[in-house]
Amino acid sequence: MIRTRALFLAAAAVTTLAAPAIAQRNFDNVEVKTEEVAPGIAVLFGAGGNIGVSHGDDATAIIDDQFAPLSGKIEAAIEGLGAKPVKYVINTHWHFDHTGGNEHFGKTGATIFAHDNVRVRMTAGGTAAGTETPAAPKAALPVVTFERGVTMHLNGDTIDVIFLGGGHTDGDSIVRWREKNVVHMGDLYFKIAGWPFVDTNSGGDVEHLLFSIDSAISMMDGDTKVIPGHGPMSNRAELIAYRNVVGEAVTLIKALKNTGSSLEEALAAKPLDSFERGEGFISADAFTTAVWNSLD
Ligand SMILES: [Zn+2]
Repeated sequence: MIRTRALFLAAAAVTTLAAPAIAQRNFDNVEVKTEEVAPGIAVLFGAGGNIGVSHGDDATAIIDDQFAPLSGKIEAAIEGLGAKPVKYVINTHWHFDHTGGNEHFGKTGATIFAHDNVRVRMTAGGTAAGTETPAAPKAALPVVTFERGVTMHLNGDTIDVIFLGGGHTDGDSIVRWREKNVVHMGDLYFKIAGWPFVDTNSGGDVEHLLFSIDSAISMMDGDTKVIPGHGPMSNRAELIAYRNVVGEAVTLIKALKNTGSSLEEALAAKPLDSFERGEGFISADAFTTAVWNSLD
């Protein structure tokens, strides 16, 4: 995570140098670690977004695939689970730290699923997470896209891929295993220091983010296992606490905006100083700015 954050900070500071930074980044020392979540469900932690895995008698499906140079390590981790090769890839959104393995898995025969807007953005390229991202090669593009969602009947479970309105971008899906009671939140949920990421260059919107989180919470109970986009495993109570902090912060920022302050004045007022979110990928100022822009 520290390496990822460093990359993002560099990207934010010097956008034009960020794309080469991705290419030059060395992934040799990244270890892809496996954690079993439930029978037939695992999460892989490496660099970039957490990967959810459904495996069993039918086929292997993965949710997100991190960065391209990690595809071999991801395959080895999946093999370590005793799982079949990857047949389905579901992208929670288009950011490069969640879709970097698409080309590899697309070429090795997997079918890629994502929200319509993920395919649109990957086809065109553009600014993703503050970084100029080129148009994706054809093999990396989602083959099956949807507006609202898709349901997979796989490995003894019913797996819903659901678009709740986005918020981190305009194409965020969550993935819910109905029987095993597991939810992958994608980047609608960061369980790391710092603030949420509303990527307004990718159609992110803070009101949509709150709505999507609320909708996801309404599908959970006290036993639900929650996979965040980044950070360790979580649960409904922690997600509710996160949602409440974000909601309070947005209320404070909105109040400043309603007084007629400029963004510069709002930043100088440090409205989020009383929260203890720590130093993370998204600073209080960056979050305040994103909220400000998405309230426009
Ligand atoms: Zn993201």
